[in-house]
Amino acid sequence: MTQLDPRSMIAMSGFMTAIMAVVLLFMRRHYPPSIRGVGAWSAAPLLWLASTVLFGARDMIPQWLSMVLANLLLVLGSVLYYQGTRAFFGKPLAWQPWLWLMGGTAAIFVVLTYHLHNYALRVTFFTMVMGVVYGAQLRFLLQHGGRSFPVRLVETVLAFHMAMLAVRLVSIAAGQAGANILEPSLFQTLYIGAYALSVLLLSIGAVLMATDRLRTELEHLATHDSLTQALNRRAMLQCCDEELARARRYGNGPSLMMIDLDNFKAVNDTYGHQHGDAVLVHFAQCTQQALRQSDRLGRYGGEEFLVLLPGTGSEAAHAVALRIHALLASGHALDCSVSIGLTHWSGPDDTLDAMLSRADAALYQAKDQGRHRTIEV
Ligand code: GH3
Ligand code: MG
Ligand code: MG
Repeated sequence: MTQLDPRSMIAMSGFMTAIMAVVLLFMRRHYPPSIRGVGAWSAAPLLWLASTVLFGARDMIPQWLSMVLANLLLVLGSVLYYQGTRAFFGKPLAWQPWLWLMGGTAAIFVVLTYHLHNYALRVTFFTMVMGVVYGAQLRFLLQHGGRSFPVRLVETVLAFHMAMLAVRLVSIAAGQAGANILEPSLFQTLYIGAYALSVLLLSIGAVLMATDRLRTELEHLATHDSLTQALNRRAMLQCCDEELARARRYGNGPSLMMIDLDNFKAVNDTYGHQHGDAVLVHFAQCTQQALRQSDRLGRYGGEEFLVLLPGTGSEAAHAVALRIHALLASGHALDCSVSIGLTHWSGPDDTLDAMLSRADAALYQAKDQGRHRTIEV
């Protein structure tokens, strides 16, 4: 292992970082702007790359470039990566403490490089600064990152890298620091290898997080109505089908509501189409409030909606209908009245088509009897 030449390892790591920067820049350009943080994520490997080039060119360029700036770029890249992660989760970084950290690091580095000439002290300081940046990020992800695979990957890489930093500190304390980073030794090789792997995996983690988010957003677009955010017709009917299949196996079937806004054409004609749209949004929000987590609201078409109440009997379904009527008559400017046709699963032979036509017939009766009411068939 000591055979590995640190300079070629640094070059390899720079090459991988460059590729990941290109991938992330491409994603920044082509992914929807609703996915935040990709810009900072793509800037991070660019800084790491610049730092790698400076490190690799040691002895050929002045020290303030190969030591002070190279280390600062490494820290700044990591701070930027952290900023990308925070932006991605909708909690952008408060820059001030990090600017202080950068400024302080720069000043101390100048002193360590030009006045103390102590490699072990410099590495110790740098290792601790990186530990702070990675530690802050790991804590943030554990608190706000959720449990998706890409987040778990990044958390693991951060924890691994922090462990490597700790090993490095111990190796320095044990007098194994060496004289400079390009001196081949087991610890240097381990450290540079771990660094290269971390940089690569952090960039891959960013790509995976953004892709995962894109998939979630596309899935949402494909299954939800863009105006009311209720399920769209296809997704709603699929939910109903799945629920009926479940009921056929385990019993305890659902209730189904067909809801139609009363005299909605008149609302449009009197107040305009935009006002009508706002009423539809208000309707969907109120209705969601009346539902439980497992219930589903879907837009069947125009101003007609379906509500699926899994494992809900007649009585409970009526109570939900009453809650909907009440929430839509609370005195809000966008309140409207609705008619509801309600039906309950009649047993394993019942089909979705049959339930829909029963709900439709019940709705028709509700309209016929003067609207603003619920009828069950
Ligand atoms: P009823 O009480 O019998 O249901 O009368 P209605 O006026 O609600 O029924 P009708 O079917 O005559 O009119 C439905 C109206 O809903 C007509 C259509 O322009 C309007 N509509 C359908 N989709 C939308 C939409 O997305 N936005 C708006 N603003 N209006 C819509
Ligand atoms: Mg209507
Ligand atoms: Mg209608």
